[in-house]
Amino acid sequence: MDRLRELFALVEVNGTTTAKAIQARIASSGICLDDFRLASTMAKLKALGKRKIDFAGFSALVGEELLMLSRAFKRQLVIPDWQEFCTDIETVFKHVAPDRSGSNADYIPILRDADPEKWGVAICSVDGQRMGLGDVDVYHSIQSVSKPLTYAFGLAREGVEFINQFVGVEPSGRPFNSLELLPDQRPFNPCVNAGAIMMAGLVASGTPELDARQITQTIMDLWANLSGGIAPVRFSEETMLSERETAHNNFAIAYLLRGGRGLPRDVDLHKMMDVYLSCCSIEMNAQMLSIAAATLANGGVCPITGQQVLSTDVVKKTLSVMQASGLYDNAGTFTLEVGLPAKSGVAGAVMVVIPNLMGFATFSPRLDAYGNSVRGVSFCAQLVDRFTFHIYDSLSGGRSGCKRDPRASQHSRKQRDLTDLRWAVSHGDRYATKVRDLMLDCMVAITLADGEIEAPEIASMAEAYAEIMGERPDPQDLQALAEATQAQGAEAPFDALLERLRQELPLLDDNGRELILESAFRVACADGEIEPEEDLQLRAIARALAINEGVLELEIARFQRRLTRPS
Ligand code: GLN
Repeated sequence: MDRLRELFALVEVNGTTTAKAIQARIASSGICLDDFRLASTMAKLKALGKRKIDFAGFSALVGEELLMLSRAFKRQLVIPDWQEFCTDIETVFKHVAPDRSGSNADYIPILRDADPEKWGVAICSVDGQRMGLGDVDVYHSIQSVSKPLTYAFGLAREGVEFINQFVGVEPSGRPFNSLELLPDQRPFNPCVNAGAIMMAGLVASGTPELDARQITQTIMDLWANLSGGIAPVRFSEETMLSERETAHNNFAIAYLLRGGRGLPRDVDLHKMMDVYLSCCSIEMNAQMLSIAAATLANGGVCPITGQQVLSTDVVKKTLSVMQASGLYDNAGTFTLEVGLPAKSGVAGAVMVVIPNLMGFATFSPRLDAYGNSVRGVSFCAQLVDRFTFHIYDSLSGGRSGCKRDPRASQHSRKQRDLTDLRWAVSHGDRYATKVRDLMLDCMVAITLADGEIEAPEIASMAEAYAEIMGERPDPQDLQALAEATQAQGAEAPFDALLERLRQELPLLDDNGRELILESAFRVACADGEIEPEEDLQLRAIARALAINEGVLELEIARFQRRLTRPS
């Protein structure tokens, strides 16, 4: 079929379509209807109103932005199943929401009085697929989230050698506002106050003709480009004034720097401080920060505008510094647990980069002892517990705890592995047969849990097996297997199963374990619900298979959604 016709077929009913249907198809791929890359298509659709659109009309409509439209229509974006990914994220979002520990920063009124209940998560993929949950439109001062980008700004303008003379790149292991410096009197890195103050001085010293506010404006312009211009980058005078009134510790740092190695190009100390405090007082929201993070994840090219905002080399250096020091003296723990470059700020924002996949930003004002948002850090940890997003998840050798991976590349790999496994079973491969046998054992043990074998149960077992393995087993064989298990006299076939799974575990890779859990899952859900007893069984099987509890929760939430979703 002609490729244009193929696209049309995705939205057509009886030979025509509507603007609404086209918009719905685009929106479900994760591309926003106000995306600049589809602006002219959207304008044309709007003008059409409710009118029916035939194939000729469709062809005339989409030509100009065909490549983008085609990728969205055909789900050829970096996260192909965007809807499923969004609902998984919602599960994690809700999981974190009840956490009310920590407290707002209280050194200035505007942060002290901010609503601590606010909670938002925004995501933007490197293909510009976007989602937001909760308070993602609330403007807040970006505070220390500004630091890595002031560094990037300086790197881009002055080059790394010059910057290196004044600011180090070593993790400090100290609180963000520490007065301590490296033995050679340089600040540890650009992500702690001392380093960011020095960076402000470097930037300010490069344009002596501009005043502090004008210099801040050039950095705000960088933020506007990084965030694709979806909303204005603002400046909070109120924050700036309070910051200046309370910046005694930061002034102490500034004087230390001047008294140590001296300030770059003899920049005025007060101007340097004004630039630093002004950068802290820039206001953005989580939506905007997520796009900025996605621009970094995308090597400096903003996903929604296509603009190369920073060079890839500058981004690489910036991310390295974020990875080592973005969360101050908690950076080591964060790298261990989350393994992603990130930057937090005392207003409650965390901006996180998953290279080549997406950026995200969280907002929740309550902070932990390190000055990082409690919910933000917890969201990151929960996310990485369920998805293979930690940088070193890539070396799991097929044993990641069965974490999910929404990337298109992984999706096709999974399909291929599954096809291989089915094929290998039919030829008697030892490993594949083991997985198959354990799947059957699981199904039987769950079926026998109520002590009897009924015909509908055998039928649903056969159904589940056929769906997973692509081959329908003979119900009589299943019946015989169940009876044999029962006849073995095992009082508790389920306990025996768990023991067997634990024994076999060292030999099973993620694919095998996933299939076994899936078979259990399908049998437990065959009657259309997961009863408390079944929930316990599934959790026990997941534990025996060393599958992360969070991953199982996603699976259960998906199942429950399928039940409530009108088909
Ligand atoms: N304005 C704050 C300060 O200079 C920023 C610190 C932060 O966000 N961690 O101390």
